[in-house]
Amino acid sequence: MQFSAHNRTQMLQEMERGDLDLLVIGGGITGAGIAWDAASRGLKVAVVEKQDFAFGTSSRSTKLIHGGLRYLKQLEFGLVREVGRERALLYEKAPHIIEPAPMMLPIYVGGTYGKFASSLGLWMYDWLAGVKKEERRKMLSREETLEKEPLLKHDGLKGAGYYFEYLTDDARLTLEVMKTAVSLGALAVNYAKAEEFEHENQRLKAVKVRDQVSGKTYRLTAREVVNATGPWVDELRRMDGSLSGKRLHLTKGVHLVVPHHRLPLRQPIYFDVPDGRMIFAIPRGDITYVGTTDTDYYGDIDSPLMTVEDRDYLLNGVNHVFPSVKLSPKDVISGNAGLRPLIHEEGKSPSELSRKDEIFESPTGLITIAGGKLTGFRKMAERVVDLVLRRLKKKEGRSFIPCRTDQIALSGCKDLGPEGFKRFCEEWRRRLTEKGMDPKEAVRWIHLYGLDIEAVWERAEENPDRFLRAQVEHAVAEEMTVNVTDFLIRRTGDLFFYREHCERVLDDVVSAMAEINGWDKETTERQRAAMEKELKQSHPTAEKN
Ligand code: FAD
Repeated sequence: MQFSAHNRTQMLQEMERGDLDLLVIGGGITGAGIAWDAASRGLKVAVVEKQDFAFGTSSRSTKLIHGGLRYLKQLEFGLVREVGRERALLYEKAPHIIEPAPMMLPIYVGGTYGKFASSLGLWMYDWLAGVKKEERRKMLSREETLEKEPLLKHDGLKGAGYYFEYLTDDARLTLEVMKTAVSLGALAVNYAKAEEFEHENQRLKAVKVRDQVSGKTYRLTAREVVNATGPWVDELRRMDGSLSGKRLHLTKGVHLVVPHHRLPLRQPIYFDVPDGRMIFAIPRGDITYVGTTDTDYYGDIDSPLMTVEDRDYLLNGVNHVFPSVKLSPKDVISGNAGLRPLIHEEGKSPSELSRKDEIFESPTGLITIAGGKLTGFRKMAERVVDLVLRRLKKKEGRSFIPCRTDQIALSGCKDLGPEGFKRFCEEWRRRLTEKGMDPKEAVRWIHLYGLDIEAVWERAEENPDRFLRAQVEHAVAEEMTVNVTDFLIRRTGDLFFYREHCERVLDDVVSAMAEINGWDKETTERQRAAMEKELKQSHPTAEKN
């Protein structure tokens, strides 16, 4: 079924008709990955997401497909190896939204890593993560470091490590994985909240799901149910009556965005801040984003906010290592706050907690997956689906093929691979600019849509002036975009990466969506107000939480 916002009711009805092998609750990267894996192994699978896809942590990460350097410090060698290999594989599958970028690790007298430890650590990292030859670490002298990054504090600088990280757009990655799952037969609906569990003989029997748009409730039954709700997993375990043993430990991580000209870095940098933690500063297009904080969180899971303290912590961190830039609160144009769904370990501080994923099996039958990283989502999905299949085999004697997502192309790039995508990008840049599109814009859209740029361009009738309208039409018809906020925050990344553009196109996006969906005046105004609230909240003036 087409992944259209207009098919949501049909999809929910199809889910209710029954015969689902697997129901996944939660449409972040974890839920999307499970749906992709399950559908590719022939399971009838459905996903319900209470907000928009990637509304939770999966749109609020540092947007790195990590080789996992920080895990080395925690001596989690297996994790470094797994995420390193995953990184290479994901880049092959989605080069339109994953891009290698050299990362600098400056070394200071008295810093977290000395020169020898950095060199050894990065060497081990290359070896464990299977890093390709041209991307292996280099050690830079003080002079080479300052030549590459003159803004760095000179005092106490000894040199730098230079290694590769991969940048992505987390919300788009989640969406591409979900689109791939749907193309393989999965059913997936956003704004569909699992509200109640029904039990029989202490076993989970059905899940009541409310469509947040129509208000209608659906009773879904499935052979197996997976709770992939990230920071919300304990809420669902509590609803299931099975919250016992290990629990989540939520920590908040904030990123802030400043114009690139105010922090004109030449490459991403991972550096020490005064309290001994390390943060990233990542230049991308017209902005540089900085993050992240890591503090215990006890507030409302649905709306973590960047506070003034969070903002000042990051600004101080930047000013400490790049003293000449003198960033002030006035420079901050946007930001976000996300929650890490980590597993509690007695006596450990937020930064010391493991990022490893874990599966909990409740006596009711509910399977919960907690912890983990964006980068490791495919392997996490494999482990969950293997468990589901073991259960189905035991109960019904059915057997399925092993995981093969490592061999399946992702939506948006198919089998092009990085080299093929480069050629595709060049050809499309020519086609779009020939018709008058600004070259920078053209490259942005080719990366955002990958192969789907063709479909959007066709809708625009090859006219750059119709491009925004075509994007909105495409988002509604092909990417289940329900609200204006879905489009401006997660489908395009405008709020985070292109705030000015976001404010500029807001009226046109509201009108286009109103026309496409036949909204009345009140709905249209509600939609505009919801986006205006998001614009306001992305500024760090909120109360402490
Ligand atoms: P989520 O993305 O939160 O998805 C869970 C979904 O469940 C939500 O969309 C929610 O709306 C839905 N839901 C909740 N309750 C219900 C219900 N009752 N019914 C239906 N749906 C429901 N990882 C990396 O690999 N690289 C990074 O650079 C990186 N940086 C990070 C930076 C920060 C600040 C944070 C917080 C995390 C970072 N991570 C990073 C980790 C990574 O982002 C997370 O591990 C990952 O996004 C978690 O995905 P998820 O699908 O499990 O959870």
